[in-house]
Amino acid sequence: MEGGFAIVQMQVTDNLTQINKQIAEACEKAGRNPNDITIIAVTKYVSIERAKEALEAGITHLGENREEGIQVKWEALGDKPTWHFIGSLQTRKVKNIIDKVDYIHSLDRLSLAKEINKRANQPLNCFVQVKTSEEESKHGLAPEEVLPFIKELNDFSKIRVVGLMTMAPFTNDEQVLRDCFRTVKNLQREIQELNLDYAPCLELSMGMSNDFAIAIEEGATMVRIGTALVGE
Ligand SMILES: *Cc1c(COP(=O)(O)O)cnc(C)c1O
Repeated sequence: MEGGFAIVQMQVTDNLTQINKQIAEACEKAGRNPNDITIIAVTKYVSIERAKEALEAGITHLGENREEGIQVKWEALGDKPTWHFIGSLQTRKVKNIIDKVDYIHSLDRLSLAKEINKRANQPLNCFVQVKTSEEESKHGLAPEEVLPFIKELNDFSKIRVVGLMTMAPFTNDEQVLRDCFRTVKNLQREIQELNLDYAPCLELSMGMSNDFAIAIEEGATMVRIGTALVGE
């Protein structure tokens, strides 16, 4: 409506331009290369149409946090996007998503590792999820549990620990956010020093709409962006 106040949803391309600018700034600050950052468009709140719009804008990685979300979006969009399962995963649901996803970001217990190992046809890229805040809703292993857990994954030939994932608390306190991300970065260094062939741990999945720039400054290689990119 010309001249009116109708609220129009921003186009994904415009949002992406803005996000790329912020990524470039964060990389500049940290002396990093923007090409080393992968954007995962989190489409859990939005329609198939909106997910398609993200793909048309040049996004190639999509993330969903529920089994149903993966099923519905996968049926519509197929295996052309790289699929990330980013939510907490019930063991009994592994079999329904295992052939559809390229990455699981929420490995946090041996029973889940066992099930993935049983169901996967080939080694699956997994992130070990680290709990860096006291928020009840956040899942993951306590930082001190992460190294012993990863050593135990030695028994599971289908699990490849590509990196660590965390969700910082929902806060604007920059120092709190940095501390969370640094904890995970430090754990990554310790894991890399173990030189485990099943756990190269080259990636850090951290940063969402409200904190991705800080996460990148602290070492994130994959940012999971929903609201700021495709909307709520
Ligand atoms: C929803 C979700 C995101 C994206 O959150 P936004 O704040 O909308 O960017 C990222 N990671 C996980 C695990 C999520 O569940």
